[in-house]
Amino acid sequence: MLIAGNWKMFKGAHEARAFTTRLRHLPERAPGVEVIVCPPFVSLEASIQGLGSESTVRVYAQNVHWELEGAYTGEVSAPMLLELGVKGAIVGHSERRQHFGDTDETVRRRAEAALEAGLAVIACIGETEAEREAEETEAVLARQVAAIPRHERLVIAYEPVWAIGTGRTASPETAQEAHAFVKSLHPALVLYGGSVKPESASSLLVQPDVDGALVGGASIDPTSFEAICLAAAQVASA
Ligand code: PEP
Repeated sequence: MLIAGNWKMFKGAHEARAFTTRLRHLPERAPGVEVIVCPPFVSLEASIQGLGSESTVRVYAQNVHWELEGAYTGEVSAPMLLELGVKGAIVGHSERRQHFGDTDETVRRRAEAALEAGLAVIACIGETEAEREAEETEAVLARQVAAIPRHERLVIAYEPVWAIGTGRTASPETAQEAHAFVKSLHPALVLYGGSVKPESASSLLVQPDVDGALVGGASIDPTSFEAICLAAAQVASA
């Protein structure tokens, strides 16, 4: 079971250090759960320091570029992340696809470069509300999955766009159906993302094809993030 917290554009270095210092020993209270936090670029180093060298909580970036270096203002490469001690990166988050022009092709390039450099990857996919209403969910997921490389260090996050940051969590049945479809196409573990809260976590995580969660809003508050990790540990031990 894997629980990753995507902090989005929240928490500067000071707050990140305090949060991760508190999270340091969480895995000992949540056996069977791999815990990941994904701070903004500027807070990665403080998060790694806050966790210290003993913690098994891992730090991932929220994005990564496909080139090693070059004239790409505002981007960060995989070797730069590795040099800091970052273990992985999210690619293709719907907010990057919506607001920053990421496409299936750029997602593929980011994922391949990250894996090649030695990072782990969480590759995000998911349909919009209009696509679901038009009964295009499977076609969209199949197209997005086709761009995602197969690799032992890659996990997929199914994040229906209509559920992200809206408070409208997918029902456990809807999530299970989508996860089973994705797994019929790709051998990776599949996390669910979209308004996961401490109250909804167990019912989603207990689904047979839900291997964990990518948590946005509820990961920004340490108490609710811890509660989700503890709920995951209960499901993992059942
Ligand atoms: C996310 O940012 O990946 C996410 C799922 O956000 P939220 O949990 O806030 O919907």
